[in-house]
Amino acid sequence: MSRISEKLSHASSGPGVYLMKDEKGKVIYVGKAKNLKKRLTSYFQRPELPDMKTAVLVRRIADFETILTATENEALVLESNLIKRYSPRYNVILKDGKRYPSLRMDLSRPFPSLTLVRKTQKDGALYFGPYTASGAVNRTLKILNRHFQLRKCKDNIFKNRSRPCLNYQIGTCLGPCCLAVKKEVYDEIVNEAILFLKGRTPDLIRKIKADMTSAAEKQEYEKAAALRDKMFAIEKTLEKQIIVASDFMDRDVLGLAENPVMTIITCFFVRRGYLIGSRHFRFSETLSAKGEIISAFIRQYYEKARFIPKEILVPHLPESASLLENRLGEWKGAKVRILQPQRGEKARLKDMAAHNAREELRRRSESAASGEELARNLQKRLKSRHPLRRIECFDNSSLSGSSPVSAMAVFENGSPLKSAYRKYIIRTVTGQDDYASMAEVLKRRYGKGEKSRPWPDLLMVDGGKGQLNIAAAVLAELGLQGSFEVVGIAKKDEKQGEKEDKIYQPGRANPVNFSRDPELLLFLQRIRDEAHRFVITFHRKQRGKKSLVSALDNIPGVGPQRKKALLRHFGSIKKIRAASSEELENVPGISKKLAETLCRVPAEKK
Ligand code: SF4
Repeated sequence: MSRISEKLSHASSGPGVYLMKDEKGKVIYVGKAKNLKKRLTSYFQRPELPDMKTAVLVRRIADFETILTATENEALVLESNLIKRYSPRYNVILKDGKRYPSLRMDLSRPFPSLTLVRKTQKDGALYFGPYTASGAVNRTLKILNRHFQLRKCKDNIFKNRSRPCLNYQIGTCLGPCCLAVKKEVYDEIVNEAILFLKGRTPDLIRKIKADMTSAAEKQEYEKAAALRDKMFAIEKTLEKQIIVASDFMDRDVLGLAENPVMTIITCFFVRRGYLIGSRHFRFSETLSAKGEIISAFIRQYYEKARFIPKEILVPHLPESASLLENRLGEWKGAKVRILQPQRGEKARLKDMAAHNAREELRRRSESAASGEELARNLQKRLKSRHPLRRIECFDNSSLSGSSPVSAMAVFENGSPLKSAYRKYIIRTVTGQDDYASMAEVLKRRYGKGEKSRPWPDLLMVDGGKGQLNIAAAVLAELGLQGSFEVVGIAKKDEKQGEKEDKIYQPGRANPVNFSRDPELLLFLQRIRDEAHRFVITFHRKQRGKKSLVSALDNIPGVGPQRKKALLRHFGSIKKIRAASSEELENVPGISKKLAETLCRVPAEKK
């Protein structure tokens, strides 16, 4: 009897948690069950596993361990803790890698304002979003900035103003920084903004209509006209939202689609009957059944969500639905229901979410397949032993040898992987020495042994044979020769009649011929251009910082303390540049005379 079969025969029929391990003893999956024996048997002793995916993954299980609990609820808590501890490869783990923008409003501040943030915290402030498309957050902010007279300035500027700024002049702010704005008047604007941001648009429109009628009755025509414009702007946003439910309730609707390599969950956000947005979540291969995937998603997503609706419609009811409802209820402070509707409006909504999940899965699978095809075609063209999936490209920048920098752009499966991009300030090279700069950054990138992993499949340097020889020499020095492919990409020399950029490989005198695969050359050029864009942006920033600091250095009376005070007050070099002498004067330690002197520093230097 195999080790697994023997363990299975002794497994308990009570509730608990099971940990699946691979042949190295690594935990690869954690699950919970009401009846451990039944659940485990379903993995190992089913004559026919439910699908190919599970069958393949089960083969990777070499051993398992169980932990008994007194109740199913305890098993649920323990399962969550163990998943957090081991991050098992085949569990559904919600990664919050991509930071979507949100809007933040801190009601504890005097005259609260809205700020755009990437990171949300449990700090007592209100957060709206996250907005999955940058266009959506910009449109929302545009309406808020134009029609809701909230202050637009940061707290430090708000405290130090001596007179209202342009926003007051053009009527987009009441000017609470300097004028006696009544708190209740401002609070009403805050409440309206909150209604708008929460998607309570119909309520808000009703309120504005009433205010407009009252203003017209009092013959306050200017006010009535402003309210009318505001109403039109808000109604326009409403036109873009679709009514999907006639009961005008708040609910989230989940759709699920999966294939052997990935699972997509689509979440529709329905507020007061309007579909106000949706978001897709991707998970890699998992051992979880559909109901378990939904359960894992609900626990992880709503634990951190700032808003939990009264109802969540799901395509598959998790085994522990009632326990989950209790948990959600604790987080929300009110009853939450998880439903799997079978007919009517709600079932249609559920089908719509499922349809969108399937579409997203198809789109992502196709794009992954085209990335794979690209990697294989490049492999063939460059005669590599492996498909060239991960490509790292370096470029340098300096202006007559000043502030030399370098940067690395990374593409994986045909798309930029921005989280892996790196910037380098050149440390050891003085003056303009492109070769030495390249050698320095390559050593910094690949010279840390195992810590340098993941390595690329292809390293690309911007430049011809000279740059390529440097890269090859550095890799040889680091003992990495042959660990990955290396190419140099050189611009075409039009004077010589060259028609396209050239790709050089070590040990080959002539560039690689891409005439049969022009799309591959275009792809490599795209990567080079991206590295160039990235390094130029970085270089500009570095130069800007230095020129301001050196310009400030030459002004009598501006020492390190004042430099620090200026930066602390304005928060960025860009804002110091844009500041008027009046604004500079508000900085502690900056006198009127000094502010005027600072204002005279030429713009390009300041
Ligand atoms: S008018 Fe005053 S409160 Fe309004 S944005 Fe300008 S500085 Fe801030």
